[in-house]
Amino acid sequence: MAREHQEPQEWRFTNALMRQAILAIGEVMGEPGLKVVLRQAGLERYVDEPPPNNLDQDTPTVEYAALNQAVEEFYGRAGKGMLQRIGRASFRYGVEEQAMLMGVAGTALKLMPQKTRIKFILSQTAKSLMSVNEDTYIEVQETPQGFVFADFTCGVCCCRKTEHPTCHLYAGSISEAVKWATGQDYEVREIECRAMGAEACRFLVAEGSQE
Ligand SMILES: [Zn+2]
Repeated sequence: MAREHQEPQEWRFTNALMRQAILAIGEVMGEPGLKVVLRQAGLERYVDEPPPNNLDQDTPTVEYAALNQAVEEFYGRAGKGMLQRIGRASFRYGVEEQAMLMGVAGTALKLMPQKTRIKFILSQTAKSLMSVNEDTYIEVQETPQGFVFADFTCGVCCCRKTEHPTCHLYAGSISEAVKWATGQDYEVREIECRAMGAEACRFLVAEGSQE
């Protein structure tokens, strides 16, 4: 189970993942938009210098959550779609960073059936997120509706309270990961969210791809 020794307020987040989110926001919103949301989130120190590209855990997770919230509030009703786009772009930065590793995995994947590819990419993502951060706990579950990626330590909604699932960036990254592994678009829906009181943020990769 998730390690209980640290309160969510004290969770730390991987520098490279925060950096990828900031670059992705700049790509999707443009530099002026990025500046606005960084200020809104109280993170103006990243305007000229995003976190370093390493796997150290120097970023308070609440800051990552605040950045997500700032984008959501900036766009209002359009926030969900924008955050999904930002999540997709974030995953692509991650792939670039690990080009060699992903290249090898991609070649192996071509030999597998679709369902195995989905399971593979979800499990690998969970494993690598847990290996860089000891507080992270993720399970990949197989359900009749499809695979579920369950993050018990989700950083997107860390310490927030909401009435709707709010981890749109995460859903976007997962759908881009699945697309990378399968070559197809699958609907990824957040069916439970920690910010609504659930024990994990659960992302369902729906069976049957959409065209
Ligand atoms: Zn969440």
